[in-house]
Amino acid sequence: MACNMILVMLLNRYYSFLCQNATFMENEAVWAIDIGGTYTKLGLVTRNGAILKSSKFSTGAGAPFEEFLKKLENESKRLLTAANIRQKIIAVGVGAPNANANTGHIEHAANLRWGDQVPLKESLTRMFDLPVTIANDANASALGELQFGKGRGMENFIVLTLGTGLGSGIISNGQLLVGAHGMAGELGHVNVDPGPSARFCNCGLKGCLETYVSVTGMRRTIFELIAEMTDDSALRSISFEAMTGEIISKAALDGDPIALKAFKMTAETLGVQLADTAAHLDPEAFILLGGLSKAGSILLEPTIAAMEQNLFAAYKNRIKVMISNTSGTSTILGPAALAFG
Ligand SMILES: [Zn+2]
Repeated sequence: MACNMILVMLLNRYYSFLCQNATFMENEAVWAIDIGGTYTKLGLVTRNGAILKSSKFSTGAGAPFEEFLKKLENESKRLLTAANIRQKIIAVGVGAPNANANTGHIEHAANLRWGDQVPLKESLTRMFDLPVTIANDANASALGELQFGKGRGMENFIVLTLGTGLGSGIISNGQLLVGAHGMAGELGHVNVDPGPSARFCNCGLKGCLETYVSVTGMRRTIFELIAEMTDDSALRSISFEAMTGEIISKAALDGDPIALKAFKMTAETLGVQLADTAAHLDPEAFILLGGLSKAGSILLEPTIAAMEQNLFAAYKNRIKVMISNTSGTSTILGPAALAFG
């Protein structure tokens, strides 16, 4: 009898040892998906931000949404087979233009011709059979900065992505600010020019910040400067469509007078707007991402100068403006942070 009891005790201990180690080994991972107008990036990411496997495919923004879903399903299956991971996949996080966290839809996205209301969350829940969280791409980036980037350790900051348009995400008291309609943080569409000659915006309004502070906005500024200035410039021989953020940034870094003037004007408009935004949200920092941020101090210094000049006294010299160090495949870290919640 005593022998049996000892055997049972030993078996129990062995069983508990096995369970503890199984829990230890069972790290968790999520599917992280970043849907862009040109490419969709996806990957498997662990809780500490390690990207186990990632890939990208052409979004096909002009083709039907169903075709995109087929491509995503095939690519995720391929990736899963190739990754051969031991982690348990627990959720899916998706950043997409105009994705509404409340409705689960992509709504009126100008660069995706999939319709006005695209049931993204519902479709991906069916596909992955996992909990799915979606957010607008800039909001996902803000969460990525909070968890894995320059926002770590901060509770109040704002991320601005300066790409084709201007996206923004707000972290307030350590949480993403979602808003009453799931659409908080649309700084790209605040009015910076109420005058009659204000630029038209894709959103249907006039004078929006993103018509000045974005790659598209800077192209418009550069073409105005090309007509006004007589200086030699490498930008004179580049077409409107071919002029990327990288080309503009490189020209400025090479000392091109038109590119430098365009950056100064753009940074001043941005800096004034950051001062306004500081009065609403009292952040610790603004973190800049996207093509234009590659110009570094050429963008940063005049932006900070214009912001400081326009800041309410209580905020002066207290708000940092910095450039993100996340880029390339790490754009999926935002959706990963979203999935982990
Ligand atoms: Zn607008």
